[in-house]
Amino acid sequence: MLAGIEAQAQEQVRKQVAAVAAHRQAHSAFSWFRQHEPELRQLQLEVARIPAPPFGEQARAQWVRERFLSTGLHDVRIDAAGNVLGIRPGAAPGGRLVALSAHIDTVFPPGTSTAGVRFENDRLYGPGISDNAAGITALLGIAEAMEAAGLRTRAPLLFVGNVGEEGEGDLRGMRHIFADRSLREQIGAILVLDGAGTDTVVTQALGSRRFEVSMRGPGGHSWSDFGIVNPILVLADAIHHFRSTPLPATPKTTFNIGVISGGTSVNSIPETAVMRVDVRSTAMEEIERLEHALRSAVAAALGSASRHSNGEPLAITADIRMIGERPAAELPAHSRLLAVVRAVDDHLGNFSRIHRASTDANIPLSLGCDAVALGTGGTGGGAHTVQEWYDPKGRDLGLKRILLITAAMAGMAD
Ligand SMILES: [Zn+2]
Repeated sequence: MLAGIEAQAQEQVRKQVAAVAAHRQAHSAFSWFRQHEPELRQLQLEVARIPAPPFGEQARAQWVRERFLSTGLHDVRIDAAGNVLGIRPGAAPGGRLVALSAHIDTVFPPGTSTAGVRFENDRLYGPGISDNAAGITALLGIAEAMEAAGLRTRAPLLFVGNVGEEGEGDLRGMRHIFADRSLREQIGAILVLDGAGTDTVVTQALGSRRFEVSMRGPGGHSWSDFGIVNPILVLADAIHHFRSTPLPATPKTTFNIGVISGGTSVNSIPETAVMRVDVRSTAMEEIERLEHALRSAVAAALGSASRHSNGEPLAITADIRMIGERPAAELPAHSRLLAVVRAVDDHLGNFSRIHRASTDANIPLSLGCDAVALGTGGTGGGAHTVQEWYDPKGRDLGLKRILLITAAMAGMAD
C-alpha cells in the first residue's frame, strides 16, 4: 500500500518535471548554456585567479557580489560571516525560498600562486578550478540563463556564495546562514553546488569531529635533565592507546591522526607535543564514542607518565580542544527534493548514485532542512592540489540538471 502511494507520488513528480522541461523558457535557458560555454569558461578562470584561502575570502566575495548585481539579483548583500547573498524574486508572494549555494573558499593557503590558472587543450587548470570555481560558475550561469530566458519561478530563489566550507573553515558560512532563525525558516530546500560531475547526489551528510591534543611539560636538557617527563613520549603513548579502539564496519567509522608537531631540538626534552585528530562516522553515536576513547587514551597516557616519572610530581598537562565539528544527518528517503532529483535524472537520461560526503549540506540536513549537494557537470580531478583540472565537456548536462531541479522545486510561473 505504502509502496503504491510512493509510486503514485513519484509519478506525479515525474509529470511536474516533464511540464517544467517543456516550458519555452526552460528550452531557451538550455540553449543559453550551450551558446555561452566560452563565457562560462572565462568566468571560471577569472574567479580561480582571485585567491580565497580559508578566512581570506573577502576579495572573491566582492567579485561574486558584483556578478550578482550585474545579473540582476535583488537585495544583494554580504553578511557578517562574509557570505554573499542575492534574491531572484518569485511570481507568487510569500513562498518559501529555494536556495542555491556554492562555497567560495579554497583549501589553498595565502600566497599560493595562481599563475598556473589557464585553459589548455580543452581543459582548465589551476588550484580550485573545479572545487569550487566550477560551482561558482554554475551558480552564476544558472542566474544568467534564467534572466536571459525570462524564466520565472513561483517561489523566490536565494543565491549564496558562502565562505568557510573547507577544512578549518568548519562550514562557518553555512552555519551562519542557518543560525539566522528567520532566514532558516524561509528556506524550503537548498542545492549545494560543489565541483564537477553529474553521477552522484549527496543526500547523506558524513559527520566529523576534529581535535587538537596538546601535551605540555617543563622541558629540559636531554642529558642533564634526563628523566623529566617527555610530552612526545606521552603523546605517543596516547596514540598507542587510541589506535587500538575497535571500529565497527557499519556504521562506517574512521579516525586519522593527520598532523603531529612539537619539540625544539634533538638534544632538548620538548616542552610541547601536539597532534590533530579527525574522527568521522555516518552515525553521531560512533563519533561520540570515539571522542570518549580519545579522551580516555590521553588520560591513560598521563596516568602511566606519572608512574614513570621517578617519584617526581607530575609536571605534564594535556589539553583536548575541538577544532571542528560537522554533524551527521540524512535527507529523508521520501523527501520531495529526492523525488525531484530522481525525476530530473530520468528525464535527462542521467544516472546518479546516492553518495555520502561532508559538505555544506551537513548543516541544513542536521536542522531538518531538505538539502542535496550536486556536481555541476563536466569532469574534474586533482582536487586540493595545485594540479587540479576541470574539463567542461558535459557541463551543460550538469547545468540543465540543476536548473530543472530548481525550477521544479520552486514551481514555474504561468
Ligand atoms: Zn568543495
